[in-house]
Amino acid sequence: MATAPAETDAIAETVRLSRRDGTSPYVVVCDHASNFVPPAFASLGLTKTDLLRHIAWDPGALGVARALSDRLDAPLVESRVSRLVVDCNRALDAPDLVAATSEGTPVPGNSGLSAAARQERIDLAHAPFHRALDALIGERLAEGRQVLVVSVHSFTPVYGGVARPWHVGIVHDDEDRLSAPLLAALRDLPDLTVGDNQPYSPADRVYYTLERHARSRGLACVMIEIRNDEIADEAGQRVWGERLAGMLETIAEQAAGRAADDLPVEGVAHA
Ligand SMILES: [Zn+2]
Repeated sequence: MATAPAETDAIAETVRLSRRDGTSPYVVVCDHASNFVPPAFASLGLTKTDLLRHIAWDPGALGVARALSDRLDAPLVESRVSRLVVDCNRALDAPDLVAATSEGTPVPGNSGLSAAARQERIDLAHAPFHRALDALIGERLAEGRQVLVVSVHSFTPVYGGVARPWHVGIVHDDEDRLSAPLLAALRDLPDLTVGDNQPYSPADRVYYTLERHARSRGLACVMIEIRNDEIADEAGQRVWGERLAGMLETIAEQAAGRAADDLPVEGVAHA
């Protein structure tokens, strides 16, 4: 609408919320969905090739997140701006909130950034992303709904010259309500190497979004990291989306069953 306030326009541009009214208890988050750098930033001085690399985004993660959202009927919150502009999964005081160097590649457009320029990046993409997620979770909780938060990321097969053996990693800190059954289900699959708090752990400061929105509210949450060569094309993204959706669905049903069992006998009709 032409009369919409500027703030709403900014949110529409840099964060996308889909399936807002989804029936699932899950809320799916994709912090590093996009490698889009708004034209005003002149590609941050990087080449097109650099902007296609994992330093700019999590290749394949959005496809998996969308498949999960579709299959679970869960809302999806995605950032539509490259993490090199501002990293939505970093605290405001993190040194790599706006990375001047990413895996050995200098990012010219990010070096010597003034406080005002840094704040502009935050206002452009970081703040709207977290406002949207905060509002979504807040609304659902206010309606008395259960909320389980899942964030979807991808990682590069080789980092710092070292090959990573895991096909998928579950990052969860000491929060195990989703991670324990998810790890068990993944380990049941043949020919899959599964990382537990690998290839990152929350100590690597990669857990900000879940800390801020789920841990702070005592909500069960998990961060799923998929090696990006597994999800390089749509077929792979669909396979992983379906696979994880099936597992998460079962986990939510089992959790709901346990919650019902915990209720006082008079409080619930056991059919
Ligand atoms: Zn990521």
